[in-house]
Amino acid sequence: MAIQWFPGHMHLTQKAIAERVKDTDVVIELLDARLPASSANPMLSQLTSSRPTLKVLNKQDLADPARTAQWLAHFNAQPATRAIGLDASQSTPAQQLVKACHELAPNRGGLAKPMRVLICGIPNVGKSTLINTLTGSKKAKTGDEAGITKLEQRITLTDDFYLYDTPGMLWPRIIVAKSGYNLAASGAIGRNAFDDEEVALELLAYLKTHYPAAVATRFKLDMTAHDIAAMKDEDLLEAIARKRGAILGKGRVNLQKASEIVMHEFRAGNFGRITLETPEEFAQWLAAGQQLDAERQMKKAARGNKRGGAGGAPEADVPSESS
Ligand code: GDP
Repeated sequence: MAIQWFPGHMHLTQKAIAERVKDTDVVIELLDARLPASSANPMLSQLTSSRPTLKVLNKQDLADPARTAQWLAHFNAQPATRAIGLDASQSTPAQQLVKACHELAPNRGGLAKPMRVLICGIPNVGKSTLINTLTGSKKAKTGDEAGITKLEQRITLTDDFYLYDTPGMLWPRIIVAKSGYNLAASGAIGRNAFDDEEVALELLAYLKTHYPAAVATRFKLDMTAHDIAAMKDEDLLEAIARKRGAILGKGRVNLQKASEIVMHEFRAGNFGRITLETPEEFAQWLAAGQQLDAERQMKKAARGNKRGGAGGAPEADVPSESS
């Protein structure tokens, strides 16, 4: 796996969330509508499993609407869960959020029992933007780079509705390889943690299969969707490099530059509305990832047994912290 990230302050954030959850009525999990399962933090679901959850598929303006509908149906079928789509063009998202939270925790409301909501999400999912819209201020910091830790803030939406913000948080171990690539493509992971070309090739592999016409149109490739789908990923990246003038000289293409272009175009929504996973696909990726992970853990345990005799517990995957 080429993607290695360092979830800065993860332990602190985890502790803060575990503490806060005790006095929380509903957890809002902000997801990226283009990668709804990959952008869900598995550690978060463990920490908050005792509370009803509102899954907000954010940036829905960038996502494939038919697939967003599939994901909403998928999440809405889960117990104690509601799911809604949202994007920054909505000037009054509060109404929708407040209504969904009251549906999930109908016994809360009024000054004696205010609704206490914890809002979580991975870096760059649009949490600051949403909070700024909700509060009508520019207090929360927004930006394109993967997020920095903020202290927990309480936002009073109405007299009896409190929103607790948490820092954008990633998790230390990728079980689903595709999730790592999709997170990197979306901009959730700092760029030093992955290889641009590898991520761009994975992205193109998905796009050429599911959205070939969008690729042809965006890069003005003089090919049919069928031709694009049949191309090797490397050849497609090279064709894009040539079209965009990413040339090193003597006819050699600059694949690094072309990779950056592909990722930039995706993040900016320039291919049109794209979603990188369906519920069925993700279920398959997860099953395969879990199997691989189990095999990996067994190998580690076996190595531990050989080295340490009786103490054969699997090595822990110790999370690294960047700061
Ligand atoms: P945070 O790290 O979760 O707080 O994310 P930010 O609020 O800083 O947003 C990250 C980037 O996504 C910024 O460039 C925002 O302008 C952009 N963004 C946020 N919400 C949306 C949305 O609904 N649609 C689109 N297209 N972009 C958004």
